[in-house]
Amino acid sequence: MNPLFDRLFAPLAGQDRPLLHLANGKQISATAFAILVARLAGALVTLGVEPGDRVAVQVAKSPEALALYGATVAAGAVFLPLNTGYTAAELDYFIGNATPCVFVGDPAQSAALVPLCATHGTQFLGLSGDGGGSLMDLAARQEAAFAPVDRSGTDLAAILYTSGTTGRSKGAMLSHENLLSNAQVLADLWRFTETDVLLHALPIFHTHGLFVASNVSLLTGAQMVFLPGFDVEAVIAALPKSTAMMGVPTFYTRLLDDPRLTRDLVGHMRLFISGSAPLLSETHIAFQDRTGQRILERYGMTETNMNTSNPYDGDRRAGTVGMALPGVDLRIMAGGNEVGAGEVGVIEVRGPNVFQGYWQMPDKTAEDLRPDGWFITGDLATRDTDGYVTIVGRAKDLIITGGYNVYPKEVEELLDTLPGIAESAVIGLPHPDFGEAVFAVLARAKGAEPDLGQIRAAVATSLAKFKHPKEYAVVDALPRNAMGKVQKADLRKNHASQFT
Ligand code: ATP
Ligand code: MG
Repeated sequence: MNPLFDRLFAPLAGQDRPLLHLANGKQISATAFAILVARLAGALVTLGVEPGDRVAVQVAKSPEALALYGATVAAGAVFLPLNTGYTAAELDYFIGNATPCVFVGDPAQSAALVPLCATHGTQFLGLSGDGGGSLMDLAARQEAAFAPVDRSGTDLAAILYTSGTTGRSKGAMLSHENLLSNAQVLADLWRFTETDVLLHALPIFHTHGLFVASNVSLLTGAQMVFLPGFDVEAVIAALPKSTAMMGVPTFYTRLLDDPRLTRDLVGHMRLFISGSAPLLSETHIAFQDRTGQRILERYGMTETNMNTSNPYDGDRRAGTVGMALPGVDLRIMAGGNEVGAGEVGVIEVRGPNVFQGYWQMPDKTAEDLRPDGWFITGDLATRDTDGYVTIVGRAKDLIITGGYNVYPKEVEELLDTLPGIAESAVIGLPHPDFGEAVFAVLARAKGAEPDLGQIRAAVATSLAKFKHPKEYAVVDALPRNAMGKVQKADLRKNHASQFT
């Protein structure tokens, strides 16, 4: 038994149906993909990969990269994907921390990566975005079938590093059961079947593209339009032949910026899902006005996969992340107690989806994962009487100014409605009198300039004085990472001396 392999990858063997549709028009059938997985698994074993070993992977998105996930699971090893944006210095930390047996990287970077891997006793193998490299040469010499290594539900299938939004990335240890249970719940809830074609434009080094999107598709026999990234032309070309898309909020704002996004264009689509970062209510509403489709927003994280979702049938409420998933317990805590409806607290979750702890960080694990299984997410939220959860921000982004709590989202929501502002980020900066002072970074709307006098006046009439930004900065765009997350830690660093 190999729980994840048996459910996601084993059923592909011998099936002629298409699995992946690529940007260049080529298709990869389920059976061809299964053979690729088997050959790669053979290659890993030849390299000496043993059950429990880590296989670190930093490569461009490709069918081979996805197959390498399946191959690692088949070999009983632990898949460890890394953001393609990480530099050699960052890789040094990840390789040193995870001590993988094998590191698969871009062959074009081998001059730097081979010696780096060697210092950690890790073998370097190449895999390029077009499916070339030393790993593929080795795979080509392997058998087309592979008997998966026995694993139990509690064995690790992956270590996935968090996005590093609030500090150094942590390696979340995820078991077969963690991943499989969540994929089953989501596939059911979102009604995925073998008739679906998922438009997959997300990176596969992050939980959203790798686990939510790929696992759900593989589990249900759905096909994927597998694009290397979000390219608006390619996405617009793929929408008429797709049935579902999973995206980050920037996918939706970028589509809305394009006049070709119409009701007709998405006539074949049954489901648009958003997550990884907050979807503004105005985006949700604009998307519905333009296309007639209500985006389904859900909430999750590296450590837990998905925790909540808006309903498939029923009210998909803009600005909320929906209810706890079946099998996931969710509570909102403040001062050691559950808060009442509408009150703000920290989300805690418990369930088969919750990870096994942070890789080699026992103190951090003890801090965030209670012995009785509740995981302290660090996200602040409210829940209303019918179970809908609204995220108000991260505990680490909460501003405490002169002893008062300011939730950045409340201020941002107001600023975002004002003329000349496309979007905003409100942060706390060190201040000699107040401890922290409220500071707003405004991204100007296209071709407009925010009028700070007008903005101060609007803020003064809508918000209590302690919530008013003391100063503003105007920029062209907010800093975001690949998942569309606003990098508030960078903003805090860049403006650190504003008040001191
Ligand atoms: P790190 O833990 O390293 O600081 P990170 O928390 O950004 O980074 P991820 O695990 O990729 O790393 O992201 C999970 C976080 O993303 C959640 O804790 C939450 O703050 C945010 N998030 C995910 N989905 C949503 C959503 N629909 N609305 C608002 N926030 C979301
Ligand atoms: Mg996090």
